[in-house]
Amino acid sequence: MPKTAHVVNAMLHPWEEPPISEGVGAGAIFFAGCNLKCVFCQNYEISQPKPRRGTPLSVPQLVELFWRLERQGACCIDLVSPTLYLMTLRDALREAKKQHFPLPFVWNTNAYENPAGLELLEGLVDVYLPDFKYVDNYLAEKYSDAPNYYGIATAAILEMQRQVGRFTGSGVTAHGLLIRHLVLPGCRNDSMKVLDWIHRNIPGSTISIMRQYVPMYRAGEFPEINRRITSCESDSVCKHWLDLGERCGYVQEQGCADCGYTPDFTRAFKDYCPVHWKDGDDSLDIQIPKDPPGISYTVPGAPRMDTTPYTTAAQTPAAPAAEPAVPYTWGTEGNPYGWSTPSPAAPLPAEAGYDGTYGVAF
Ligand code: SF4
Repeated sequence: MPKTAHVVNAMLHPWEEPPISEGVGAGAIFFAGCNLKCVFCQNYEISQPKPRRGTPLSVPQLVELFWRLERQGACCIDLVSPTLYLMTLRDALREAKKQHFPLPFVWNTNAYENPAGLELLEGLVDVYLPDFKYVDNYLAEKYSDAPNYYGIATAAILEMQRQVGRFTGSGVTAHGLLIRHLVLPGCRNDSMKVLDWIHRNIPGSTISIMRQYVPMYRAGEFPEINRRITSCESDSVCKHWLDLGERCGYVQEQGCADCGYTPDFTRAFKDYCPVHWKDGDDSLDIQIPKDPPGISYTVPGAPRMDTTPYTTAAQTPAAPAAEPAVPYTWGTEGNPYGWSTPSPAAPLPAEAGYDGTYGVAF
């Protein structure tokens, strides 16, 4: 049985971070399913249903989809929630590279990945875009059903960093590690710990602080996150990044926390997929929004990032001589909540592995 990946949607996406949305946008391919179960998932219509929605595409069909998006003007191929299809996508990226595909591939992930699986992508993925969600494993289990998220995500991010290094370039030259973080209501202390870990382990990183949280899906079952974040919460997280001496990054403007900006998968919900496969048919239904809502990304105290290069040589700190000899660990001393102390050295689950079709299985 040929390897496939379930594609729910493919579109030009102008609202990713500026260096991966140049021109008409990223060529975003949304895959069905997810290895997390976030109670606030904005994409729950496609991430949670079983059986999976979407259209199963083979490796040659995926490569053809890459080329179609490239012909539509995409500046990169943005693989959204790709983890479950790692083996299929590895083959597709390998084939595309053989065909001298000119755009960078972006691995847009929740960071809950097996480093051994990521090693299979070395030389194939150009930009890693992990959303580093939590340091506190209590939050990870409560809101995302993700045991030992911290240990797994940090190991994965370090592997991503090993492969591609710090973020450079823009558009078709984009390359490296760009770390996202979604700020959750009432969790700004954990957000700051996420930034602390990045600063201590990969100083000089480019980050993206996302303020787009909107209570959706099952968020109503958790009163403490059943609201939008306040500007005080998001501003204090941004300020913390700057207080650490870091200068590279983006933050979404406050207005992006609006249901109108969350992806509309209504058609996918009805099992409609805009990817049509007929011989000689080049009529892929690329959705280009007619009225961009004007979302842009800014860093407090810095020029607007949507009109200036994402970083400059002056802003880029020199690479450290060596990684810290001792991995940074969180102590309960600095944890006002008294939650469990995660260990970055925690081993991956013994059963972690790949089943050849569905990717990673933690
Ligand atoms: S990782 Fe992202 S896509 Fe997956 S369940 Fe969480 S919010 Fe949804």
